Amino acid sequence: MDQVSLKSEILIKGVAAAPGVASGAAFVFHQSSPNVLCYPIEEESISAEKARFEDALLATRREISALRDTVAGRLGEKEAAIFDAHLLALDDPALIDETLRMLHEEKCNVAYCFFSTAEKFINFFSNLDDEYFKARAGDVRDITQRILHHLLGLSRTALSDVMDDRIIVANDLTPSDTAGVEKKRVLAIVTDEGNRTSHTAIMSRALRIPAVVGLIVASKKIEPGDEVLVDGYEGVVYVNPSEETRYRYGLLKKERDAAHRRMMREADQPDLTLDEKPFVLSANVNSAEDMASVRENRANGIGLFRTEGVFLKTPWQTPGEDTQFEYYKAVIAAAKPAFVVVRTLDIGGDKPHVVHGAPGANPFMGFRAIRICLENKAVFRTQLRAILRASAFGNVKIMFPMISSLDELVQAREFYGRVLDELRETNVPVGENIDVGAMIEIPSAAIMADNLAQHCDFFSIGTNDLVQYLLAVDRGNGRIAHLYEPCNPAVLRTLRDVIDAAKQRKIPVSVCGEMAGDPMFAPLLIALGADALSMSSAAIPGIRYLLRHVTTGKLETLKDDVFSETNPVEIKKILLDFSARLMGHVPGGAPARALETTTPFSR
Ligand code: PEP
Ligand code: MG
Repeated sequence: MDQVSLKSEILIKGVAAAPGVASGAAFVFHQSSPNVLCYPIEEESISAEKARFEDALLATRREISALRDTVAGRLGEKEAAIFDAHLLALDDPALIDETLRMLHEEKCNVAYCFFSTAEKFINFFSNLDDEYFKARAGDVRDITQRILHHLLGLSRTALSDVMDDRIIVANDLTPSDTAGVEKKRVLAIVTDEGNRTSHTAIMSRALRIPAVVGLIVASKKIEPGDEVLVDGYEGVVYVNPSEETRYRYGLLKKERDAAHRRMMREADQPDLTLDEKPFVLSANVNSAEDMASVRENRANGIGLFRTEGVFLKTPWQTPGEDTQFEYYKAVIAAAKPAFVVVRTLDIGGDKPHVVHGAPGANPFMGFRAIRICLENKAVFRTQLRAILRASAFGNVKIMFPMISSLDELVQAREFYGRVLDELRETNVPVGENIDVGAMIEIPSAAIMADNLAQHCDFFSIGTNDLVQYLLAVDRGNGRIAHLYEPCNPAVLRTLRDVIDAAKQRKIPVSVCGEMAGDPMFAPLLIALGADALSMSSAAIPGIRYLLRHVTTGKLETLKDDVFSETNPVEIKKILLDFSARLMGHVPGGAPARALETTTPFSR
């Protein structure tokens, strides 16, 4: 019997941040904050202290730029953008000028002047009840630690020092910390802080490392070397797992691995159901870097091109028309001859940018997406021109996000028409027959779908937002994540009604929120009549496998079963059972928990 099994099992629940199960020994990571003492200095030492401060700023700038390049190379520009925000914070005159003022007026060591100024900033930002400003506090905290280490001549603990095959356990990880994480050394990540949209969660998903965040007590309860089992599907962590838990997860892993092998064997097969009905699976992308995975997983076009990527590269300024044109063209040309549905700017909400200024008290319901574009026509025009110019290089459709009324749709279309005419009149080449559609992701648009359908060429249902607005559950808030329930019959009825409205008006309708790529919901969405499902490329082989193993008759029965129920728990059971059978799980052969782990919604 090994030492680990003498300790009793502890189960800690958090938020599922990146899928996968891993077990191994814990590497408990504490980034120590240096102890900064205050001492008086002579007038003649001020310039030397100032020079030390400038050197520390320079060294930090070099360090962050190098980190930025490493992360851009390994993970892509989107993930590296966080370091641009750090470089910006490093130049913040408020932080630097206040430090120098204190140095001159109070005549104490520059490390202390900087430390106390930075603390004031951090406290101010983190006490604001706003995710955007809390994130800014995190940026300042991260660069402050770096600058202080340089000023005090200390070395930092780096996650690149972590020994092979460990589970990283931390209170929180800063972007600088996660930049050092190497997939081949790290089995999983667990943190006390964070939610599904926090930086650690995003990085873990990009690195494909299982992760559970928001565990509150993990870094206190887990000791270095403890055996830890991380379930990134369900958002739970077992410390010193019992024999029974290990056995259960062993079975689960075998079952998942076998299902995965079966799935991949069919990856090259046509997109037809068992009774030979075609289905369309397209991809959601953020930039041209995603195109390799689109090809690998045989996506049938791009159902959602989120254009925020080019804006988020420079959160402090709006990218120019040529910069945007190159960014869009790279995706459109790479996808050719397949279609690309380009969504106009959906900045705001959880994607802060100077374009919309301060996010307001409730950013998801605030100044975002089409609301910004209709008010700031210069921004909208620049983007539409860039998209239209890029459309000459492939097969483009355009859609507007966050449409809440017919008036907004009509205004957006009219403005789009003017920009198109302007380009044509000046003989700028643009694509032919560009369809224009609306995202249906706000309840008012869903209710008025039949009306909106008369004014656009297609619908794309954004379930991520639609669910949050229908249920009044903030999609980024880990505290209420359990209430974000797409099985709520109100959600399913709304989806059914929107799809029916599109059918009646004879326009195609696709679904591009997370539900589309979820094995639990994809068969139902097809049963409801969705013409296409758009998802992250990695999800495509699984959904293809599922749909290749159904018949239209079975889908009809599934729909009837689901709509005869009103209890979300029962609906969930019906959907999970259906997808588990198709995936080849032995019904009842694995614990119910195991089947539930196939959905990103289960927390
Ligand atoms: C959605 O809301 O479902 C969607 C696809 O858009 P986003 O996640 O970018 O808001
Ligand atoms: Mg949305």
